[in-house]
This record gives sequence, C-alpha cells and structure tokens, in this order.
Amino acid sequence: MANEHLIDDCIFCKIIRGEIPSHKIAETDKAYSFLDINPISEGHALVIPKYHGEFFHQVPDDYLADILPLARKVALAIGLDEGQYNLLQNNGPMAHQVVPHVHFHIIPKPNKEEGLIVGWPMKEANQDNLKQLLGKIKEKL
Ligand code: AMP
Ligand code: ZN
Repeated sequence: MANEHLIDDCIFCKIIRGEIPSHKIAETDKAYSFLDINPISEGHALVIPKYHGEFFHQVPDDYLADILPLARKVALAIGLDEGQYNLLQNNGPMAHQVVPHVHFHIIPKPNKEEGLIVGWPMKEANQDNLKQLLGKIKEKL
C-alpha cells in the first residue's frame, strides 16, 4: 500500500503495508486494528493510525479521528459490550512505550487476576497548585 506517511524502519508501518503478517481485525482508510502478539489477556488488540508518529500529539486530527470509532467497533466485536477493559496509550519509553508508532491497546479485564494490573500512587492535590497549573496550561491553549 502506498502511503507517504509510513516509514521503512517501523514494525507497525510494515504491518500496515502488509510486509509482515498480522492478525488483522479491521481497518479504515486511516486506522488499522490487529491482535497483540503478546496478549495480556485473551482478545488484547491494538489500534494504530496509518500515519507514522511516535507520540500521540504528532498524529494529525483526521488520523486520530478514525481511531476511537474503530476501537469501539473492535471492543464490541471482541465481546466487551458487557465486559470490563482498559483502553490504553503509552508515549515514550518512560511511559512504557516499546514500539515507537502510536498505538491504542484494548485490553480485556475478565477478572481481577487477568488483564492489566494498574496501581498508581494517588495523593490529593493542593487547590492553589491546581489553579496555578490551570492558568499556565490555559495560557498555551
Ligand atoms: P507498548 O509497550 O505500548 O509500546 O506496546 C507495544 C505492543 O506491541 C506490545 O503489547 C507488543 O506485544 C505488541 N507488538 C509488538 N510487535 C507486534 C507484532 N508484530 N504484532 C502484534 N503485536 C505486536
Ligand atoms: Zn510506523
């Protein structure tokens, strides 16, 4: 498939181009979904843009716009309409990204033991700090 937004040296770009095999679930003009090769739980799937970008913020809106409707379709097809699951997206090695092509994980959580185990530390924020931070963020919008 000719697509000037894909690169040669990327495993997911190669999957999109059909140069390496994948268990394709579904695709659109701008997004592609397939089964994860190292599933955390049965049905663990990935949804990727047909645009090479390492980080979520590098992918143009029209490619991002195809991802969530496709993820929804795939989640329903996996049988998650009454199930529990995580929709997860990592950016950068410190955030646990291994493949540097944007991807969303759909990870079924069939029970407490299987699926994604999360447990990040939470501490209540200081309201003044939140207001200050909000001001800084809004200045850049
Ligand atoms: P992340 O840690 O968010 O970068 O996740 C990368 C995911 O891609 C992992 O869950 C891998 O199992 C998956 N993966 C890597 N190579 C392939 C492949 N060839 N086919 C399917 N899934 C893959
Ligand atoms: Zn790529």
